Amino acid sequence: MTSSQSDLDAAQEPVGVTSQCGFIAIVGRPNVGKSTLLNHLIQQKISITSRKPQTTRHNVIGIKTEKSAQLVFVDTPGIHRGHQKAINRAMNRAATTALQGVDIIVFVVDKDQWTEQDDVVREYIHEASCPVIVAVNKLDQMASKNEILPWLSLLHEKMPGAELVPISALKNQNIERLQSLILQKLPRAPFHYPEDQITDRSMRFMAAEIIREKITRQMGAELPYQVAVEIEEFTDEARLKTIGALIWVEREGQKRILVGDGGCRLKSIGQQARQDMEKLFAAKVMLNLWVKVKSGWSDSERALRSLGFDNI
Ligand code: GDP
Ligand code: MG
Repeated sequence: MTSSQSDLDAAQEPVGVTSQCGFIAIVGRPNVGKSTLLNHLIQQKISITSRKPQTTRHNVIGIKTEKSAQLVFVDTPGIHRGHQKAINRAMNRAATTALQGVDIIVFVVDKDQWTEQDDVVREYIHEASCPVIVAVNKLDQMASKNEILPWLSLLHEKMPGAELVPISALKNQNIERLQSLILQKLPRAPFHYPEDQITDRSMRFMAAEIIREKITRQMGAELPYQVAVEIEEFTDEARLKTIGALIWVEREGQKRILVGDGGCRLKSIGQQARQDMEKLFAAKVMLNLWVKVKSGWSDSERALRSLGFDNI
């Protein structure tokens, strides 16, 4: 056989494979709506069905299997400007690694704001060679849908070659259109994961993520990156999980804020985190939280590694 074209076709579309499967990165600056979008795309709170260790180099945050297509959503831990602090360096490395080898990038931007941070994300995307879909989010906040037209043509100039799709992650508008664009671009490949698996992250990791999410939600800008969560204890009995976590902050002042008057803030963080964990693990959870001060940890590579940041 001399024709190389049929070899090429074979390479692109494996013989006999009728399913589609691919890795999709959802990227964008903080607060633009990535988590909200992911929850709608997956259409259920991510739950743990397996304690299998990571099987790929990606941080898988959600898997959706529908008919003959499997969408594997991966995390891009923080794309940040500024390389001075060790934590930023670690996060930038992680972001670059996360974008290598994905099949599709969904770049979430705001309906009428483009900031320097969007430029940073765009630079990262520029290094990747896969198709990009720009999801223009928070459409529900526009008085009239026509207002978005000039914005779309501006985005088109910023991201030539990318498909643009206006959405509202919060109100679930146009998410189907986004999903069908993703499906169009999803490679033909066998499934990577069993059909019933929704995420491959370990329970410990998910527990830490939930605590971190509740802290961020309650504290907002008061505690930017100077917080890390370390799971110290994870006892896994059939109907009860006992989880002990250390929350590391950089300064005494931050500890005071996080703990709150008479411990009220920490208590409410703990209550919310426990409720989410109970849903996720389908078990009763006893959660103990401690706040500790580790001065200057975010600027020390070794301290970061000891907290597991080398493989985020
Ligand atoms: P992330 O930091 O990119 O993951 O952003 P989040 O998903 O946490 O969303 C940040 C904030 O924007 C939250 O308060 C969301 O409720 C809100 N948000 C996300 N999507 C939309 C949307 O489509 N419309 C509106 N009005 N708010 C949204
Ligand atoms: Mg988020």
